[in-house]
Amino acid sequence: MRQYIIGNWKMNGTKTDAKQLATTFVKRVSEANRPLPHIVLCPSHPYLMAVAEILKDSPLEVGAQDCHPENKGSFTGDVGAFQLKDIGCQYVLVGHSERRQHHHETNELIRRKLEAAIKEGLRPVLCLGESAEERAQGKTFDTISKQLLAALPSDVMPQDFLIAYEPLWAIGTGLTPTRAEVEETMGFIKHELSTHTTGGALVPILYGGSVTGRNAPAFLSLPHLDGLLVGGASLKVDEFWDIINASVR
Ligand code: PEP
Repeated sequence: MRQYIIGNWKMNGTKTDAKQLATTFVKRVSEANRPLPHIVLCPSHPYLMAVAEILKDSPLEVGAQDCHPENKGSFTGDVGAFQLKDIGCQYVLVGHSERRQHHHETNELIRRKLEAAIKEGLRPVLCLGESAEERAQGKTFDTISKQLLAALPSDVMPQDFLIAYEPLWAIGTGLTPTRAEVEETMGFIKHELSTHTTGGALVPILYGGSVTGRNAPAFLSLPHLDGLLVGGASLKVDEFWDIINASVR
């Protein structure tokens, strides 16, 4: 499967920064002389339209960082999946740990967001991961299984969505699991998907958490890894480009 490299810019930068980053990556991709992975840029909401406009005739794609489960209505400050699709988004992150933590998002709400996104023709990236405490208590698989099974749509079409395994203790900390740990968790997620769904074994599974240009090659060469979700390093042109170039398929 062709790998995915997704950049989550979070709440960073100005409109000028967003446009510059997008323009630079379009140029680099157009000059690249090797097969590239799927590349998705996820700016914050105010810059989505500007970035979507820059990427529109390129192979790069645009994603949002969150959506509301309803399409319209009295939800001040929220943005619906329908609106994201309307302005040219193809992807949306759902259940990122920073949303679960700071906005108290539940598995039930995340399932509704996932379903809304799929219904509107977006590809949601379902983020899952255990906290340091859960890991210390040996509850990693239990946590991931609960998050996954509670959010899974009833009919899984593997092309409908992606999964990003992002241990909370690895996000923005410089800490990462070992390759063997990532491989084991990928295997567990694939096993859960194939046990509980039809077609789920083919859902792409990404790793995220303190990915850098240095550690990306080791992760991307894992046989079961379908790509990376990158936070901080996706804001640095050369480093993100190194990560893109570390893709192996
Ligand atoms: C993220 O927030 O999705 C993430 C992976 O962040 P970082 O790469 O900065 O750890």
